[in-house]
Amino acid sequence: MKTLISSDVRLLADLIRKGGVVVFPTETVYGIGASSFLEEACKRIYQIKGRPGDNPLIAHFSSIEEIKTICEVNETAERLLCEFSPGPITLVLPKKNPAIFPKNLTTLAVRIPKNPLIREWIRECGTPISAPSANLSGRPSLTRMTDVVRYFDGIVDGIFDTEEPSVGIESTVVGLTTEIPILLRPGVIESKDLKLFLPNLVIPGSFSLEKTDVPLSPGTKYKHYAPIANVKVLPRETFVSLFSSFGANPNFGWIGFTLEEKESKSLPNGSKEKERICNVSTNAEYTSKLYAFFEACDRLGLEGIYCEEPKLGEGAEGLRNRLEKASETK
Ligand code: AMP
Ligand code: MG
Repeated sequence: MKTLISSDVRLLADLIRKGGVVVFPTETVYGIGASSFLEEACKRIYQIKGRPGDNPLIAHFSSIEEIKTICEVNETAERLLCEFSPGPITLVLPKKNPAIFPKNLTTLAVRIPKNPLIREWIRECGTPISAPSANLSGRPSLTRMTDVVRYFDGIVDGIFDTEEPSVGIESTVVGLTTEIPILLRPGVIESKDLKLFLPNLVIPGSFSLEKTDVPLSPGTKYKHYAPIANVKVLPRETFVSLFSSFGANPNFGWIGFTLEEKESKSLPNGSKEKERICNVSTNAEYTSKLYAFFEACDRLGLEGIYCEEPKLGEGAEGLRNRLEKASETK
């Protein structure tokens, strides 16, 4: 299949209207999308990704008004949307229009991406875009255009070539269809931010330990976000001492706050050496680089990846969750 790689909103909207599948960047990660009203097109996304059929897709909208035509938006939902959208948050709402994918559910996960060009494209499509993250099911989401082209050129109808994601992990998901709101997936909009609007928000103790057979959000029962290399998350002291004794071993990758240049300088030269060591200065930078780093380590065929624990405070919640998910044993 010939894939159109373009930033032309009209051409890419044409593909969607004709039932095509298009990979596009959002501020969180790349998505792989189709018209929410074309069931066959949405089903193709599942085939391409190898995604389990019972894991529903998020519908992407260009405005709150558009969401209101499809879902029940009560006062709380409206306040959350006004505060955090467009932005990295997804709300699960009661569905009004049963024709939208997935038809068998009475609820719909909705989100408004931040990039103005992507919202313009959704408007031009004339339909919400149902899209999971653009990756093979279970693997980390993609955040770099070169990785997207490597995986999806020749597989999808179009790839939207514009600003790469900056956040780096998937959106925060909040369930609003039960009496008490629940955090279904942590992200960079954190529970402390949400609690200002949802004081009774339920925050499951540990997302990584959630091994129930009846998950509240279908996606939580599947293994997620894991590279092929084994991931180990270590507290700072252990991480530092292990790196100083073991950092030169070419079969392991390192990501953390303490990989000072002078330490990594003692390593042999070569691009592989640079690629397998990633120094970051904040949780936000760590989050934005994490998946691309996992992808690079897998390309290098590394055996393991050592990750320093996130810093306490701002930006730790979503990052910690993805590191825990990635380090679950296979
Ligand atoms: P992804 O698009 O791959 O980042 O995953 C979307 C997440 O939203 C998954 O965890 C889904 O299970 C969850 N989700 C999507 N739609 C619904 C829904 N109607 N109810 C609950 N969770 C949902
Ligand atoms: Mg995903």
